[in-house]
Amino acid sequence: MKPTPGTLYIVSAPSGAGKTSLVTALTGADPSIRVSVSHTTRAMRPGEVNGVNYHFVDRETFLGMVEHGDFLERAEVFGNLYGTSRSSLQRTLDAGLDLILEIDWQGGQQVRQLIPGTRSIFILPPSQQALRQRLTNRGQDSEAIIEGRMREAVNEMRHYVEYDYLVINDDFDTALADLKAIFRANRLNQPLQHARHETLLQGLLA
Ligand code: 5GP
Repeated sequence: MKPTPGTLYIVSAPSGAGKTSLVTALTGADPSIRVSVSHTTRAMRPGEVNGVNYHFVDRETFLGMVEHGDFLERAEVFGNLYGTSRSSLQRTLDAGLDLILEIDWQGGQQVRQLIPGTRSIFILPPSQQALRQRLTNRGQDSEAIIEGRMREAVNEMRHYVEYDYLVINDDFDTALADLKAIFRANRLNQPLQHARHETLLQGLLA
């Protein structure tokens, strides 16, 4: 029997809100939720692995993929190109798995238009002060760079109204529980449950 198709999720957040840690914990706890690996032209950061965090490609390769229509969505963020390739997306959903796109608001707008039924989640820090603290703790960046990131973060957060769900990442475990609740509730929605339990429903209504 064909599985009930999974749901596509957009997860966006300003840099420093804890999105990647939350998504990693979520997918670690639930094997039926997967994360799409984007392509990017940005330089690899220490600790990142090609093919795991991103597919790291040069600008020419990226633009070649654009020419071939390989991307479902793409955007320029902080001067680097990012995109979600179409290739494994449909296969994952058809296998009954939920798929997360960790993308910015520009990509979010494109995907919502293209794929009806997409659910979207915006992760927010508890305050500007907490966000600044998290961006400062990250490393050896100068005050000017941190100020630039803060401005970009505020610009990203202006788009929260476009999203179905807001999760505030003040306490990590609470935010993770909120995320799990969104996925669980969505799986119980009527059309999905109908598809899953057709025989049961027929029996009940006989
Ligand atoms: P970072 O370089 O810090 O990993 O990500 C920078 C920003 O690019 C984040 O807001 C992230 O969500 C966004 N991003 C990562 N991959 C994609 C993608 O495939 N498409 C779009 N539109 N944004 C992405």
